[in-house]
Amino acid sequence: MTQTYDTELKLFINGSWRTGEGRDEHAVLNPATGDTVAALPLATPADLDEALAASAKGFQEWRATDVEARGAILHKVASLIRERTEAIATLLTLEQGKPLVEARGEVASSAALFDYYAEEAKRAYGRVLVRPTGQRSIVIKQPVGPTATFTPWNFPVYLMTKKLAAALAAGCSVIAKPPEETPGCTSALMRCLIDAGVPANVAQLVYGVPDMVSRHLIGSPTIRKISFTGSIPVGKHLMRLAADGAKRITMELGGHAPVLIFDDCDLEKTLDMVVPQKFRNAGQVCVSPTRFYVQRGIYDRFVEGFAARTRQLVVGNGMDADTKMGPLANSRRPDAIDALVEDARTKGARVLTGGVRGNQGFFYQPTVLADVPLDANVMSNEPFGPVALMRPFDTFDEAIEQANRLPYGLAAFGFTENGRQANMLGDALESGMVGINSFAISVPDAPFGGVKESGFGSEGGPEGLDSYLVTKAIHQA
Ligand code: NAD
Repeated sequence: MTQTYDTELKLFINGSWRTGEGRDEHAVLNPATGDTVAALPLATPADLDEALAASAKGFQEWRATDVEARGAILHKVASLIRERTEAIATLLTLEQGKPLVEARGEVASSAALFDYYAEEAKRAYGRVLVRPTGQRSIVIKQPVGPTATFTPWNFPVYLMTKKLAAALAAGCSVIAKPPEETPGCTSALMRCLIDAGVPANVAQLVYGVPDMVSRHLIGSPTIRKISFTGSIPVGKHLMRLAADGAKRITMELGGHAPVLIFDDCDLEKTLDMVVPQKFRNAGQVCVSPTRFYVQRGIYDRFVEGFAARTRQLVVGNGMDADTKMGPLANSRRPDAIDALVEDARTKGARVLTGGVRGNQGFFYQPTVLADVPLDANVMSNEPFGPVALMRPFDTFDEAIEQANRLPYGLAAFGFTENGRQANMLGDALESGMVGINSFAISVPDAPFGGVKESGFGSEGGPEGLDSYLVTKAIHQA
């Protein structure tokens, strides 16, 4: 298996792949070692203007393409992604750090989503209302227009896919700005699109200084829709930019997922599920289970079982076959997590395991904090890293109050064998997704998105397609 970072990084604008040619560059690092592996060219304002002009043309071409033909191309994208899994997953692990097996899973999910939207594209249904007078009201759905997408580094391939697959299915052209930290795997994804037959000016790829690129694209009258996945502060900033042009937006922002563990749960089975989920992608997951509220009767056993399993995790380079958790994705993350852990420790949390950095690259040991006081910063600020927080509770109502106390609401989880309690959890938890005895909450055919400050709009399912469509009512006498 090749362990070398073997790709030339380029922009894809107006039908051609563009290399350095005097552009500023960004150093791409391998987070397992901290070494620079490649130089990424950054788009200039002139590049973005060219992309915008091409996107306007591409939209007219793509919206006029028969939906069956669009669907066939998207199925072909899925096939190419599957054929190229090993190459894409290797780039992903080398620049993001996650274990190769997780990278392969991410690539497989991306292929599945292209297949889903290839079919869902055919279901952008309208309706006809017939009046006794003979007048008809015809409601149709049309693609919203050229779209700009901004995606983060934690699931660079899958999150870019969520936007591109739905936008292309709806008939929109797209300018994608994936993260500068992980450009190899996202370029490889864009090559699948182009090689499958997506017309050159329909899908374009730019990297750059994020603030310059987002201001330029969102400020252009060409762009009619913005879709962003990332942090809440950046999301709010982009919403303000979009407001100037009254543009449609989808915002998938952070969360701080509560996990309610009731004393009637299957304890060993629950522990076997939650520990790998907590440390998947080193906890850099917007729906990562983070605040564990455990009913007092099983609190000590749960906390000890969790810490014991955590100590057994093999932390290492994502390219090594036995690695269960890789490094964090960039140098900002260990600093941020260290500060949160130190704050919690100072305020009285017990560090049962972890709480230290690795000695090379951007590693941070999987960390379990028990009895974390509510005033610890980490109880209110998403750690976005390998940190599990434990607190006991007594009653159902108290657990719900704790779970819902933050201004976020992306995902929430509950573990109980009591069916009535499970139903009550589904109703009471304030979040876009609720997993009960399950973490399988990101699937192609169901909506994924947050409430409260976690954002609005959904990706996945018919709702994801709808977010790239506008509704028009035609009244005909
Ligand atoms: P950040 O806020 O600097 O950036 C978050 C993402 O937004 C990155 O992908 C970045 O490239 C992009 N970005 C930043 N400024 C931008 C701008 N002006 N215009 C367009 N895009 C811009 O934070 P970070 O250090 O990269 O990540 C840390 C925090 O981000 C985490 O704590 C987590 O809360 C959040 N995050 C959330 C998700 C998610 O899936 N919801 C993914 C990654 C990061």
